[in-house]
Formats: sequence, structure tokens, C-alpha cells
Amino acid sequence: MIIDCHTHAYPAEVVAAPRDWARTHREVHWAELVAPLDRPSIQGWSELDTMLAAMDAAAVEQAVLLGWYWENESTCRQQNTAIADWLAQAPQRLIGFAAIYPNANVIEQLESAQALGFRGVGELHMGVQNFSAACPHWQMMAAWCSAHNWPINLHVTETAGHEHPGSVATPLQELVRMATAAPNLKLILAHWGGGLAFFEQNPRLRKALRNVYYDCAASPLLYEMRVFKQMVDLVGIDKLLFGSDYPLRIYPRSQKTPDMTRYIENIQSKSGLSPTDLRQLMGGNFARLMHA
Ligand SMILES: [Zn+2]
Repeated sequence: MIIDCHTHAYPAEVVAAPRDWARTHREVHWAELVAPLDRPSIQGWSELDTMLAAMDAAAVEQAVLLGWYWENESTCRQQNTAIADWLAQAPQRLIGFAAIYPNANVIEQLESAQALGFRGVGELHMGVQNFSAACPHWQMMAAWCSAHNWPINLHVTETAGHEHPGSVATPLQELVRMATAAPNLKLILAHWGGGLAFFEQNPRLRKALRNVYYDCAASPLLYEMRVFKQMVDLVGIDKLLFGSDYPLRIYPRSQKTPDMTRYIENIQSKSGLSPTDLRQLMGGNFARLMHA
């Protein structure tokens, strides 16, 4: 069973005019990423029916709809309301992770999201949303999510790499502090965790990071396919999760409209993982982490 743990969706009015919408909602960073003026955008968009068709075409049984790392609590709430509508229409296919802005209202935001049917938090971004391990609102959220077995998906920017516009740093040491302070919290670090996996070779860190997972969202934009096997060597297959970043066009040269098929076929044919490891990566690990 394939579960895509990293997808995004936006309300129809956002998709219709992203820059105008972003201006009125003070979401400058998002607009710069998805609708830049100085270069072609690799963002794709989906509606509920096109997303379900993409899932069917790629034999994806379930997908996690992530929120976005909005800069305002009000935008987080708006997107959660819109995504809750999708969840209600396809409850067997979609799992919702809520957009949350870590501020003094954080517990109320989490409880509202829970009432709407969400089962986790993310994708959050400590650089864009201005929080750190020492932030009391982060700590309140981490405690609530630990108690409710809600994973938190965090965007992690690659620690070294090609400079790209709109990229905001996410210091790895903060992730270590977060994991150490909340050892039962399930942290899903997006985009292979930005390099943190290397430091799991330190036994003390490996222990501190035992509830940290890594997703492979958007990997083709950053790394060669051998990264899959190397991540298995670094942290073990149990900690790796399949996520695509759909509807981002992660093969921008050849992919005119978003799909889930190409990435999955590439992983199956070019990652070098065994059939058993593939089953864990593609859904087994995520199913276990949601239930354990
Ligand atoms: Zn991300």
C-alpha cells in the first residue's frame, strides 16, 4: 500500500490569483516561492478530483494533505477549513495535517484542527514562522502533539547547496534540541532532513533522534537517486517515509502538469532498494508511525 506523506492543497481562491491573494493576506514568502515574477514557477496546482485521479493513476492509496507554513494564524485557519472540506469528501484517501502558527493561541489552534478531523501538524518552517526549540509556543505544541500521538512535519532546508530564491535556513541544531526536549514527539523532517541524517552516525545523537523520521519530498530537485540507498545506510529504512511534494513539479523540464506516477516509478526502478525496503518506505513506515 502506497501512502504519500507529503502533499499540499490550496483553496480555490488562492489558486485563482496567488499573488493578489498573498498580498491581501500578507503571505509574502509563499508568493515568492509559488508565483515569482523573475523566473518560471515550478508550482503546480490541484483540485480534489485531479488529485484523486493522480493518486489512482499512481496506485497511491492514501495521501497526507499538509498545510503550509503561513506567516499568519488567520491564514493557517483558513487553509485548515478549506482542507477539512477535502478530508470530508475523501475520508478514506486523505489524512490531514494542520497548518499551525506557533503563538499564544497554539493549543486552541490544535484543538480546532482536531475537531475538523486533522491528525497531525505540518508542514511548519521555523525560519519563516519564527520559532525555535526555546519558543514556549513550540514547546506547548510539542507537548500536545506528544500526548495525542500527532506527528509534526517540519520543512528542513538543505544545510549546504545551490542558492535558490526564497530559501530560508532551518538550523539543524534546533532540530536536535526539539527532539531532545520532546523524546516522544514524532518529528517528520521534510526533504531528507537537510543533512541531519549524517549526524545520526554519532551514537548519542542517534539516541536523541530516535523518533525522528525523514521524508523524500521533492528529492529529484536536489539529489541523485542514489540518495535513497545512502539514507538507508545512514539511518536505516525504518525512519524513511515516501512523500512527493505533489503538486509541485519536481521534474520541471519534462513535467508540464503535476503527477505522482513518475517519481514513484523512479523510486521503484532506480533507488536500488529491495522490495521489502520499498514496501516500508512507500507506506509501511508511515502506517506504523500513525498507529504506534
Ligand atoms: Zn518543504
